[in-house]
Amino acid sequence: MTEEKVKVLIIGSGPAGYTAAIYAARAGLSPVLYTGGQPGGQLTITNDVENYPGYPEGINGPQMMVDFQKQAERFGTDIRYAMATSVDFSGYPHKVTIDEKHEVTAEAVIISTGASAKYLGLPSEEKFANKGVSACAVCDGFFYKGKNVAVVGAGDTAAEEATYLANLCPKVYMLVRRDEMRASKIMQQRVLNTPNIEVLWNTEAEEILGDDLVSGVRVINNKTKETQELDVEGFFVAIGHEPNTAIFKDYLDMDESGYLKVIPGTSKTKIEGVFVAGDAADRVYRQAVTAAGTGCMGALDAERFLAAKEVELA
Ligand code: NDP
Repeated sequence: MTEEKVKVLIIGSGPAGYTAAIYAARAGLSPVLYTGGQPGGQLTITNDVENYPGYPEGINGPQMMVDFQKQAERFGTDIRYAMATSVDFSGYPHKVTIDEKHEVTAEAVIISTGASAKYLGLPSEEKFANKGVSACAVCDGFFYKGKNVAVVGAGDTAAEEATYLANLCPKVYMLVRRDEMRASKIMQQRVLNTPNIEVLWNTEAEEILGDDLVSGVRVINNKTKETQELDVEGFFVAIGHEPNTAIFKDYLDMDESGYLKVIPGTSKTKIEGVFVAGDAADRVYRQAVTAAGTGCMGALDAERFLAAKEVELA
């Protein structure tokens, strides 16, 4: 195990992590940021972001994250493409192990590990991973150009994925488990006004069908119990996300879904010098702009914590 000491360690590279990095770097705290397995985070698997203030024409998600990264680097953030695999917050300074082989000791840790896509839990989902099953239309939609696909879910993500796929695919089935959608009205209207999207209400996926590759999906109407097979080659799961917080469970408080708890109105956790920003602690808003806002809070809270610590030690 190699070892290293740093002042501020940021775990995660979405809007929260990069914003924390920009603030910490400008405050002269020489932050080190580990990107995790999906550099740039969830916005790298989205299309146009139209609700981030300052971009009147909208901006492409991956491009936005490149810009966040450049801004963090401009002020001297040390960005590293690796994964935090465990932590030890039992003493001080805090210890974070990277890729199971490098131990970083940090005076302050800002957790911004975000959240990841959920799957239905069907065995066939695993069997067909990357062979027709995807959780990201913007990443994988191109491979299904000219083919029929199904999207599961009824939130904004599902609505966005269905309309995106409708530009590439002759037919998009949207499997909605209730008789209404959770998506915002504007997104629902987009779905309902797109002629090649067929919404199947009260419908759930029972099994994904195929030999090597997906060739269909068996669905069931949960009211009538009628089943039918849809002729699709792509199966997109868009049913929400779960926070990437498993490595912190022995040290930090979390709710029943795994979202980390902070002291209200701050980014502070119950452990001194450990802060949380972004979706890892936000089950309610989960927006790029709120993640960026809490990233700023994380850096400012860390800066104040370190300044107080210096006074204490002087
Ligand atoms: P949500 O949690 O909002 O929605 C999840 C959807 O998946 C719900 O419709 C839910 O159904 C359905 N679902 C969950 N589990 C299952 C299951 N096992 N089988 C079938 N369906 C299931 O997640 P999203 O990812 O859509 O959105 C997360 C947040 O991000 C929201 O706040 C959203 O507004 C925001 N967002 C904003 C966008 C934008 O503004 N451009 C784009 C994408 C997301 P049910 O309704 O029955 O519970």
